[in-house]
Amino acid sequence: MDHPILAHGLNYFADNYAQARNKFRQACKFTSAQHRLHAFKLPSDNPLLTELAMDVCIMNPDASQTLVLSSGLHGVEGFLGSAIQCAFLECARKSPSIRFVLLHGLNPFGFEHLRRGNEDNVDLNRNFLLPDEEFQGAPATYQKLNPLLNPPSPPRALDWFRSRAILAIAKHGMQPIKQAVAGGQYEYPKGLFFGGRTPASTQLVLRQEMADWLRGSDMIIHLDFHTGLGKRGACSLLTDYPLDRQQRNLLSRKFGRWRFSEGGRDNLAYSTSGSFGRWCVKMNFALRYFYLCAEFGTYGPLHVLDGLRRENQAYWFGSSSQHMQAARKLKDLFCPVATAWRKRCLKEGFGLIETAVEALQEGDIHKIMSP
Ligand SMILES: [Zn+2]
Repeated sequence: MDHPILAHGLNYFADNYAQARNKFRQACKFTSAQHRLHAFKLPSDNPLLTELAMDVCIMNPDASQTLVLSSGLHGVEGFLGSAIQCAFLECARKSPSIRFVLLHGLNPFGFEHLRRGNEDNVDLNRNFLLPDEEFQGAPATYQKLNPLLNPPSPPRALDWFRSRAILAIAKHGMQPIKQAVAGGQYEYPKGLFFGGRTPASTQLVLRQEMADWLRGSDMIIHLDFHTGLGKRGACSLLTDYPLDRQQRNLLSRKFGRWRFSEGGRDNLAYSTSGSFGRWCVKMNFALRYFYLCAEFGTYGPLHVLDGLRRENQAYWFGSSSQHMQAARKLKDLFCPVATAWRKRCLKEGFGLIETAVEALQEGDIHKIMSP
């Protein structure tokens, strides 16, 4: 049966970043659970017009089982995650034994400008390199495909991108192409999937604050909401760090009804360098940190890549109206307006949260996850 909250489903979806932020902050204020709300300002190109911030709501800060829910790491992908967070806040009072840490708008610049990257065109899910890793390099196939992926000119109505991409796939194979294109690169600052040259503003805030938000947690489950990958309307769970036996056990026992992809070892995903999840797990915020990237499918991969490429071209080389047009299309690619898609994804997101709460509340969680 549907959760009663989902009856208002569509109201949780915002039209733009400012509205999403406002809905989130209002939902925090009206939740009956004990909570703290913080705002961390991040770089804005027009601070007088729109304040860009990562908003963080923490409920039940003394509980030792923690659920982290994050949205907007990829800017324009934030609309669904934000809607799920707002829906969740309306019924958060029911789980006082769990600490909830909600991170809203991890990349507010991309959210505001309907881009995947941040103010420096950095794909934040490629930026979280570990201290011994360097911000450099690009896969050889990416270098070869750079003129196709990142043409230094405004987008044209007809440029045969999809036909050329299909030829490249026929030559290299779908999975190797996906891996080379989307796995992350550190050489082309105006290119797609650019991981940056230094830790990005979002990472600096998280490095500074996250240990404090999570202090005293025995066990953390983290659901990081994304869109644009996988079957339309379906949710898939991705990890990009090596799972141990207990983590696999938890996945199959509790999250078994969702499709799962580990480290890009199948046809769904790909492994990424500098991913947020791996960083969270390695930072030792808790003995057990279980991160899941929750991906909700929208359109096919070439369709999505074409939209990303056009928006990026328009951002760097087009007029402002060209960019606005391309960015609006990109928003639809990552958050379709179709009512059925929105309701289905909201319900799936809600189901994930309920499952995570159940897992954290279960008496045998220590047995499942103990080393
Ligand atoms: Zn994403």
